[in-house]
Amino acid sequence: MCGIIGYIGERKACNVIVDGLKRLEYRGYDSVGVVTEADGKLHIKKGAGKIDELKEKLSLLEMPGKRGIGHTRWATHGIPNDVNAHPHTDCSGEIAIVHNGIIENYLELKEELLQKGHKFKSDTDTEVIAHLIEDALKDFKNFEDALRYALLRLKGSFALGIIYTRDKEHLYFVRNESPLVLGIGDGEMFAASDIPAFLPYTNKVVFLDDGEYAVVTKNSFVVKDLKTGKIKDKKVHEISWTLEMAEKQGFPHFMLKEIHEQPKAIKEAIYGNAEVIDQVAREIANYEKIFIVAMGTSYHAAIVGKYLFQRLTKKAPVVEDASEFRYEFEDLVDENTLVIAITQSGETADTLAAIRLAKKRGAKVLSIVNVVGSMATRISDLVLYTHAGPEIGVAATKTYTTQLTVLTMLAIALARHLKTVDEEYLRELEAQLYEMPKYVEVALGYENKIKALAEELKEKRDFFYIGRSVSLATALEGALKLKEISYIHAEGLSAGELKHGPLALIEDGVPVVAVAPSGKTFDKMMSNIQEAKARGALIISLGDNEELEKVSDIVIKMPKVNEVLSPIVYIVPLQLLAYHLAVLRGNDPDKPRNLAKSVTVE
Ligand code: GLU
Repeated sequence: MCGIIGYIGERKACNVIVDGLKRLEYRGYDSVGVVTEADGKLHIKKGAGKIDELKEKLSLLEMPGKRGIGHTRWATHGIPNDVNAHPHTDCSGEIAIVHNGIIENYLELKEELLQKGHKFKSDTDTEVIAHLIEDALKDFKNFEDALRYALLRLKGSFALGIIYTRDKEHLYFVRNESPLVLGIGDGEMFAASDIPAFLPYTNKVVFLDDGEYAVVTKNSFVVKDLKTGKIKDKKVHEISWTLEMAEKQGFPHFMLKEIHEQPKAIKEAIYGNAEVIDQVAREIANYEKIFIVAMGTSYHAAIVGKYLFQRLTKKAPVVEDASEFRYEFEDLVDENTLVIAITQSGETADTLAAIRLAKKRGAKVLSIVNVVGSMATRISDLVLYTHAGPEIGVAATKTYTTQLTVLTMLAIALARHLKTVDEEYLRELEAQLYEMPKYVEVALGYENKIKALAEELKEKRDFFYIGRSVSLATALEGALKLKEISYIHAEGLSAGELKHGPLALIEDGVPVVAVAPSGKTFDKMMSNIQEAKARGALIISLGDNEELEKVSDIVIKMPKVNEVLSPIVYIVPLQLLAYHLAVLRGNDPDKPRNLAKSVTVE
C-alpha cells in the first residue's frame, strides 16, 4: 500500500519526487526514500519517518539528477527502519528498486541468491528483486531482457519503479496486482501509484494493466507485456481532476476538507450518473441472485444498498465482505448471478479478487468506483462512478456519501423499471435526493456544536453506536470513523442486539450514539435508547423527532428526510465527531496509525 513516484525530464528530479511523495503520503508513511541518477551514479537517501521530517533531515531537495524514483512505505516485510526503507539495491549498487506489494516467494528466491553469493542488507521481500535482476544480467546482455526474465520469477503483487545506472535514458515501471499509472508530460514523463502525485504537471495518464511494464524516456513511453515482451497499444486518458482537488485549500486536514466537500461531491454524483443510470438498471433488472461485495467503509455502503434494494426493488441482495466472499461463496456464483462491487480506489485487493472470481464463474459484475480507469473498472462488465474527486484522507468520507447517492439512484431506477414501487413515491424520493446537498450543508452547520461535544467526550474510553434498519449502516460507519482516527474503542451494532450481550458493558457515563430518524423502526429505537439510559448511558441521539429530547442527554437535530435517504445526511455529524475527537486527542486524522488508504494487499 505504499506510494511510488518516478520522474524523468528536464526538472530537478528530487523536487518533483518530494512533492509527489507528499501527495502520496496517505498510502503509507512509515519510511521514505529517494533515488536519483547523476553522472552515471545513483544517489540514495532514505530513512524511517515521515516526508516532512526527512525532507530536512536528509536534505532530500539537494539531490542531483533529472531522473529518479521515490517511495513512501507501509511495511509488510521487515520493521519500518532506515535499512528497510526503499529503494533497495543489488550488490553492485547499480540497480535500485522501489516496490509496492508483497513478493510471496521471496524466501525461496533469497535462499537461492544467498547461495550464489549475493549479500542482503535489509529484511524486506523487495530486495530480492534487485539481486534477481543483477543475477539475470550475467546471462542477458540487454537490461530489459534481464528484467523480464527476473520479474517472471516473482510470485505475488508488485508495482515497481526501477532505475539502472548504465541504462542512462530510461526508467522502468512494472505493474502486477498493485496500482501504477504513467503521467505523460511534454518532454517529461511521470509514473506513480496514484494520479494526484503528478497532477501539478500533467493530467494525461496511461493506466498500466497487470502483467505490463513501461519503458520510459523523457520524450516517450512504450508499454509491453511482461510475458511476451510484445508492445501493447495503450490509450492516453485525459482526466478532469484539477490540482486544487488534490490540495488542502486552507483546511487543516484533507479529511475535514473532504467532509466539507460532500454537498458538491453528491451533486457531482447525481449529475454524473443521471444519464447512465437507467441503462445500467435495465442491464441488471433480471438478476435475482445478487451479491454486494466491499470492504471497510464501502462495506457499510453495501449494507445501505441492501436495504435500498429490499425496500424499493423487492430484491434481497446478500452483502458480503469481499475477503470472505472469495472463499465462501465460490460455488454459489454462476452466470445467473449479479455481483455489485464497491471500491473507492478500484484497486482494493480483496474486492478485485472477488470481482475476478465472479467473472470466472460467469457472473455479471457492476462496480461502483471513484477512481476513473482503475483496475476494477477495467475488469467489470458495468461501471458507475461516484465522481467524488480525489480522496486523500485515509478515513473515507465523501466517497461514502457519494457511494450512497449512486446506490440510491440505482435502486430508484431499478424500481422504476420493475414497477415495484409507486411512481409517485419514486418521484418524491428522487426530488429529495436532489435536495441532499442542501441537507448535508445543514448537517455541516452543526460543526461548532459537535466540536464542543467532542471536548466533553474526549476522555471517554468506549462508545456504542446503535441503529436499526438502514441506520444500522450509519451506526457501523460512525463507529468505524471513530476507531480508525481517534483510536477510541467503538462498536456499531443493531439496536435490537444491544440487550443480547453488549448491554452488559453499559455503565454510568458510557456514550451511546443512537441513530434514530423517523421511520419504520423509530418507536423500537426509543425503547432501545431507554434501555441503555436506564443503565446510566450518556445518550447522544441523531434524529428529527422531538420525542428524542425526552430520552437523550444530547440531541443532534437532523433535517427531516425519507428514512432510506437518511444515511447520506446522518453520517455527516458522526464524521465530524470522529474528526474533532481525533484532533483533540492529538492524532493526525489524515494518517491514522497502522492504516493506509486503498488496501492493495490481502
Ligand atoms: N513489501 C514491501 C515492504 O515491506 C513493500 C511494502 C509496501 O507496499 O510499501 O517493504
